Amino acid sequence: MKNPFLLFIVIVIASFTLVAQAQPPSSVSPESKKTSADKNSSAATDTAFNGTSWWNYVKVLASDDMEGRETGSAGLRKAQEYVVEQLKSAGLEPVGSRSYYQPVRFESRQIVEQQSSLALVHNGQVEPLALGGDAIFSTRVDLAPSVDAPLVFAGYGLTIPELGHDDLSGLDLRDKVVVIFPGAPAEIPGALASHYQSAGERWKALRKAGVVGVITILNPAAMDIPWSRISANRAHPSMALRGAEFDETAGEKLAVVFNPEKAQKLFEGSGHSLQELIALVKDRKPLPRFPLVPTIRAKASVNKKMVDSANLVAELPGSDPKLKNEYVVLSAHLDHLGIGEPINGDRIYNGAMDNASGSAVLLDVIASFKKSRQRLKRSLLFVFVTGEEKGLLGSRYFTTHPTVKPGSMIANINIDMFLPIVPLKVLTVYGLAESDMGGMVRDVAQSLGVQVQPDPEPQRNSFIRSDQYNFIRHGVPALAIKVGFEQGSPQQALFKDWLTQRYHAPSDDLDQPVDLAAAGKYEDIIHGLMIRLADNAGRPQWKQDSFFRRYAPMAPGFN
Ligand SMILES: [Zn+2]
Repeated sequence: MKNPFLLFIVIVIASFTLVAQAQPPSSVSPESKKTSADKNSSAATDTAFNGTSWWNYVKVLASDDMEGRETGSAGLRKAQEYVVEQLKSAGLEPVGSRSYYQPVRFESRQIVEQQSSLALVHNGQVEPLALGGDAIFSTRVDLAPSVDAPLVFAGYGLTIPELGHDDLSGLDLRDKVVVIFPGAPAEIPGALASHYQSAGERWKALRKAGVVGVITILNPAAMDIPWSRISANRAHPSMALRGAEFDETAGEKLAVVFNPEKAQKLFEGSGHSLQELIALVKDRKPLPRFPLVPTIRAKASVNKKMVDSANLVAELPGSDPKLKNEYVVLSAHLDHLGIGEPINGDRIYNGAMDNASGSAVLLDVIASFKKSRQRLKRSLLFVFVTGEEKGLLGSRYFTTHPTVKPGSMIANINIDMFLPIVPLKVLTVYGLAESDMGGMVRDVAQSLGVQVQPDPEPQRNSFIRSDQYNFIRHGVPALAIKVGFEQGSPQQALFKDWLTQRYHAPSDDLDQPVDLAAAGKYEDIIHGLMIRLADNAGRPQWKQDSFFRRYAPMAPGFN
């Protein structure tokens, strides 16, 4: 899963307790974890999954040999070679542009802090900011060498035309840098709030208002990871897709992420305090907007390099003469964060859950279809994308330049960090209410004794934080599906702990507890949903009232 602000995050907390809690999953017999419900519903068929074969794939993809699978790295190439072997042995058709591969070209950007600086200027008095301690540059945008600009606090910095909501109205923003919090007031529906917080949409409105840069103060109530970890790998390169067509933040000269504990200095003399604002943000209340007293002075030196990587695309052809020209797409990102700052002597960010786990589901489902020889009416497309951790870049490239006929992809299911760390009682389905796919996944899950729920934490913006979002933006109805928890349940604390301690840290590795039965049941649901989508007479449609319907092709029966 993509961190919204940074590419690379590190633990600096002591993880002695983690080691003490960790149990190798191999110590749990998958058979002994099968419940009678599993047996009644699915274990009798040859497509039932029990988690064992899934875990075997995870073990390969998340091994130290793969060096954390950073985009463009030898480790990711090795993981891709392994995946290609599996695709070949399953007899899948290569549908990349070069066999299974679809090359994707990136520019990598690395901040050179020795030659960079940030300062606040109060009436001519320069107050240097500590890079790392106070704030960090984001190289997601093409930083200008220097920026000197007044600051304006713009609340959430959101412009949502559908609701007549405009945090920029009434502010003079010409040639200014805005200071904002991520998030949105509680009354704004989740899909709208997520969409307008995406980098491109946000920048469109800010640029129109004359803004030249953005300082984001992280919301302490919605940070997946503490600032110390955010700061530790800030010199790790970010990446951008090469080509002007992909530059969503053209004209953004400055992007800075501010440590919330140090952000009071931005508000000195404004008549407002950080504390007051953070209390409002925490409760997702509307925010005031006002000019700030200090100006920002920034110098940024960035090392740029060209990096090559690739998506992998494979097809299992359908059997219906007409419907085989349509695809049900199962996607997962294969890339992760690579090698970085060591934590307890471990430098390899294995990304076992993020997202060897999702890639392994694809391989396992592929192997199962091969074994069952079940022929479906529509074709299935399996896409292993690169560059997700760099900002959903591989999927953006693939959906902009698909290697199958445009309009032929009828549905996308994306799997990213589905977290089978507790028994599977409830599935969290992102996009549940948006299309016909919601009802289908509900039926399939319920037939296996699993309930579904919409995103319980819409403020985390998960629906736009993984690859399904690029399919959605190209009109393809999509879902992202994860093992879920009920609000207020003990499981909720487990998920919270997982994010705090393992997310984007070297301890997201093979030495962590996983629930094989949960992974198996999850795969049963994905497998069942793909069969329904592939064999259903009609294509799934966006709901009439779905915000995302705007991206769907206009003509019914569009092909
Ligand atoms: Zn991630």
